[in-house]
Amino acid sequence: MERKNAWKDYSSTDLKEIDMLCTGYIDFLSSCKTERECTKRTIELAKEKGYISIEEAVENGRELKPGDKIYAACMCKSVILFNIGKKPLEEGLNILGAHIDSPRIDIKQNPLYEDGGLAYFDTHYYGGIKKYQWVTIPLAIHGVVVKKDGSKINICIGENEEDPVFCITDLLIHLAGEQMEKKAAKVIEGEKLDLLIGSMPLDSEEKENVKENVIKILKDSYGIEEEDFMSAELEIVPAGKARELGFDKSMVISYGQDDRVCAYTSLAAMLEMENVDKTSCCLLVDKEEIGSVGATGMQSHFFENTVAELINLEGNYSELKLKRCLKNSRMLSSDVNAAYDPLFADAFEKKNSSYCGKGVVFSKFTGSRGKSGSNDANAEYLAVLRNIMDNNNVNYQMAELGKVDIGGGGTIAYILSLYGMEVIDCGVAVLNMHAPWEVTSKADIYETKKCYMAFLKDA
Ligand code: MN
Ligand code: MN
Repeated sequence: MERKNAWKDYSSTDLKEIDMLCTGYIDFLSSCKTERECTKRTIELAKEKGYISIEEAVENGRELKPGDKIYAACMCKSVILFNIGKKPLEEGLNILGAHIDSPRIDIKQNPLYEDGGLAYFDTHYYGGIKKYQWVTIPLAIHGVVVKKDGSKINICIGENEEDPVFCITDLLIHLAGEQMEKKAAKVIEGEKLDLLIGSMPLDSEEKENVKENVIKILKDSYGIEEEDFMSAELEIVPAGKARELGFDKSMVISYGQDDRVCAYTSLAAMLEMENVDKTSCCLLVDKEEIGSVGATGMQSHFFENTVAELINLEGNYSELKLKRCLKNSRMLSSDVNAAYDPLFADAFEKKNSSYCGKGVVFSKFTGSRGKSGSNDANAEYLAVLRNIMDNNNVNYQMAELGKVDIGGGGTIAYILSLYGMEVIDCGVAVLNMHAPWEVTSKADIYETKKCYMAFLKDA
């Protein structure tokens, strides 16, 4: 069943809106490369739209009313927004849920060393990466160093013109005869992903003068001691801004589009959609790329606890009301899909692949090897969504991730489905997903935001 290319029917108004949306999106990608940066920016944007924190709402102790806007953040790494609807919470929420962590390389707790007159940070990668893609490119360091007294030093080095960048080196081709015979998974091994950070020795008689010089620079510029790395979270990400791609500027290339393309469009839809019948909710969570674990991942009770607080604010809290609210909710698990790549056609089954430019992608199921680990969305729910999409002129396509038995993937969908709510995966098709630079189509970004708005309005 052929789906049409969305670009074909766009009016000049559509094209203007695409331009506006994608300009904002490219900005967001360029300045928000970690879960902490995404959380911070989300809260700023939400506050501009009149959102208040759940703590403030609880403190005020006043009853919730339609139109109230509340956000809750967890450990600066995940954030939930609620726009209170006209119906009681017990009738359920319309939830858009995306993740704001992306594959990257983290700095270890004892990172600094010197070898061969060069200084390095030792690292441990985060999420699923092809390690060989992360060498020989300019890299930036983002994150926090927390001092023993609790004070926090924000780090972002490698994004401004005048900043230095960093690099992981690779073996020159001239000496790579043996390396080139290795399997791609072994060409660059995990412990070899160390970051080159300096080469100039201190003028002193001490050993490891290059490393000492780096320590001195860190102390002088940031007040960081070597021991402070023990309580730091520093993430190595590709340096540089997101860009338009193609002669026609129809695509976006950037780090972190899985899943910030769905996080941004979910957030944009959430902030734009006023006066909803059912309470709408936007979940932007951490740790999806490593299994949704920890306090800031989707498996944490943070979401449920926050909904409990809301029901309490509504008045006459009961656990039964909470359970009913969750069961009666509907969710779009806003996450990316693998776009059909003609250069790797063998990995895809053409009829059931998502294509750049054909709109938002629904995936009834994910998983691998016989749908294992999947949330398999209900046909009844799919019918409801088809109706909403058609009524709102949203271009959409139905796809699964690659050929049967060739691989697979998962999202946060299965976690929310445990409450008995309707959940389906729904997001943007991405080329070279999990690479340092990922590619999306502007038309798909636009259709996805339209889809999320239609969902919040009509589901
Ligand atoms: Mn994802
Ligand atoms: Mn991913």
